[in-house]
Amino acid sequence: MNDPDQTKLTTGCIAAVLPAAGSGQRFGSDRNKLFAMLRGKPIWFHAASRLAARPEVGRIVMAISEQDEADFRGPFAELVNELRIELVRGGDQRSDSVRAGLDAVADDKSIELIAIHDAARPLVRDADLAAVFAKAAETGAAILAAPITATLKRALSDGNASLTVDRSELYSALTPQVFRIDVLRRAYDRHRGRPATDDAQLVERIGHPVALVHGSADNIKITHPEDLRIAEAILAR
Ligand code: C5P
Repeated sequence: MNDPDQTKLTTGCIAAVLPAAGSGQRFGSDRNKLFAMLRGKPIWFHAASRLAARPEVGRIVMAISEQDEADFRGPFAELVNELRIELVRGGDQRSDSVRAGLDAVADDKSIELIAIHDAARPLVRDADLAAVFAKAAETGAAILAAPITATLKRALSDGNASLTVDRSELYSALTPQVFRIDVLRRAYDRHRGRPATDDAQLVERIGHPVALVHGSADNIKITHPEDLRIAEAILAR
């Protein structure tokens, strides 16, 4: 599935949009979970640095909440400046935050692709970034995805019976999700608030196919406090 040699990408032609405006209620902290530290740096910084390390990434826009603005412009300002991150105001839904990032780069003629990456995924591998960027350059829309390894069951209506689901064609969607800028703009222009669990779903709705690029399952999203310990272990490996 991965074919990084196909890339025709020029330096700086990708804008990375990092939604970081969530409340992270499942993390059980009164602060944004993205402020939790991993090896002495906040989670969001790890996520942004991995994208910043790619030569194709020319801009990094991070969508943050009003509540977190003082932290990003105060104690975190040095880290924000180190990666030249542009801060924009996110929204109530993740898609509102992505749209704010997209609006910030919409008129930049040097940008060909948008890579949307959860600020809560600090461990994405460089080789996976290269592969998904190359596939998006080739097809217009590509996401990282990991094959499902669990045995899946569908519960039948009364709860006393179940069926095993064939997992051979099933993947869990990761980020980055990477789109040609015109494709993503069309998808967002048509998005009228109908629920969607990722950006790829909005692109599917406009009839544009989304390619799956096999990504490492290490690219976890930090959701619960125990995920931080898993992330530490992966980093130590
Ligand atoms: O809550 P969850 O971890 O699934 O959110 C995924 C990413 O989207 C996180 O980085 C979070 O900060 C971001 N987000 C956002 N705006 C929202 C909700 C989530 O930027 N309204």
